[in-house]
Amino acid sequence: MAEQAIRETFGLMPPGTSHYLYVVFAPFALVFAYGAYLRLARSGLIDLVRGGSGGIAGALGRLGWYALLQRRVAARPRGYAHLGIFYGFLALFAGTTIVFIDWDILRPLGVRLLAGAPYLLLESFLDALGVAFVVGLCVALVWRLARLRTSTPDQRAVQLQFLGLIGGLLFLGLTGFLLEGLRILLRPASWTDVSFVGTAVAGFLSGAVSPGTAQEIYVGLWWSHAVVAFTLIALLPFTVFLHAGAAPLNVMAQPGLPRRELDAPFDLREVMESGNFDLQPGVATVAGFDAGRRFALLACTNCGRCDEVCPAVAMGTALSPRRLVQSLRRQVLEAKTEEDLLDTAVVSPEALWACTTCAACVMACPVLIRPVDYIVPMRREEVSRQHLDARQGALLANLGRSANPFGLPPDRRDDLPGSLAQADGVES
Ligand code: SF4
Ligand code: SF4
Repeated sequence: MAEQAIRETFGLMPPGTSHYLYVVFAPFALVFAYGAYLRLARSGLIDLVRGGSGGIAGALGRLGWYALLQRRVAARPRGYAHLGIFYGFLALFAGTTIVFIDWDILRPLGVRLLAGAPYLLLESFLDALGVAFVVGLCVALVWRLARLRTSTPDQRAVQLQFLGLIGGLLFLGLTGFLLEGLRILLRPASWTDVSFVGTAVAGFLSGAVSPGTAQEIYVGLWWSHAVVAFTLIALLPFTVFLHAGAAPLNVMAQPGLPRRELDAPFDLREVMESGNFDLQPGVATVAGFDAGRRFALLACTNCGRCDEVCPAVAMGTALSPRRLVQSLRRQVLEAKTEEDLLDTAVVSPEALWACTTCAACVMACPVLIRPVDYIVPMRREEVSRQHLDARQGALLANLGRSANPFGLPPDRRDDLPGSLAQADGVES
């Protein structure tokens, strides 16, 4: 009778490893839970998602379109590497989860998921996605290293975090293949060639290491693989890795404001009817932005796509929507949400007044952040504090009269530098 292909988890590890694994994982899980609590506590996220455009159905549609299909990420060739990382990560995460369910939950009940054809299919699928994962990470590593050399000091810390994250994920991808190769070497079976990468690694290692050494390497690698994975989980809420959780949630929580419209600080009719003229038209602290805007800051990946389409950046002004969003993000992470952004020069008036409100950044952001929605309220605050010179006064009059800073008639808005019609490579 032919031998049945079956997944053997912990087969090469010392007895009791599965129990030790949970003990080792516990502190990492606690750090993750604390970080997740810090980021999500009082964010009102559930309400934001429920109250987003189209309710739950709309939220799921955006999750599918922008997060799972990576619609905007893939709008530029450099996003292709992210596709490999994203889909590879999802597949490997799902594979690990299936192994956990199979071994820890179903096996004691006498049921096996990972046996026969489903197991073989999963093995070859994971190997293929694992290759995409490693290739995507290698491309991202080269790209980030190249960018590190030209980074401004404020970008450097974020770039270094990305490099650490990419390095950690690459370690997981490569050690995953090495472990698979060692497993095939030590426990050869008739079906293992479906794991084509693992089989190639096993072929490379055979003759180079003795079975005893291979077993020792396997145990050492297995634990280092687990600890690096746990470390990344624990660091997720505290590093740029946060975008992996915050970006999909932000996409789901979008309020559905038309892409080219600006948020209004208040409804004049409601004010007249209520008779309450105690208005706060501007915003000077991160706490002054609504919960959705505050949460969106956590999703920023510092990718710079907003800068690439911003006419104010192209003209060499003080404004960089990427830098502005990152500055506000830091205020959230450092619990400085009550700090006055204008008095402390976290945001400069020159940067605020350089924005043409063209909304090209809104269209370019892969995680649906709207940089202009932070700029305009802070600019209103500048006005209410009467921090205006003659040029800014004229600009304001133009905005009020023609909805653009140049005083062009509304039907010529697409002639504006950096307008949506001129934004290359972004959907309109
Ligand atoms: S609205 Fe236009 S000018 Fe303002 S930050 Fe965005 S892209 Fe730049
Ligand atoms: S705001 Fe969006 S486009 Fe700009 S750096 Fe952040 S994630 Fe990228």
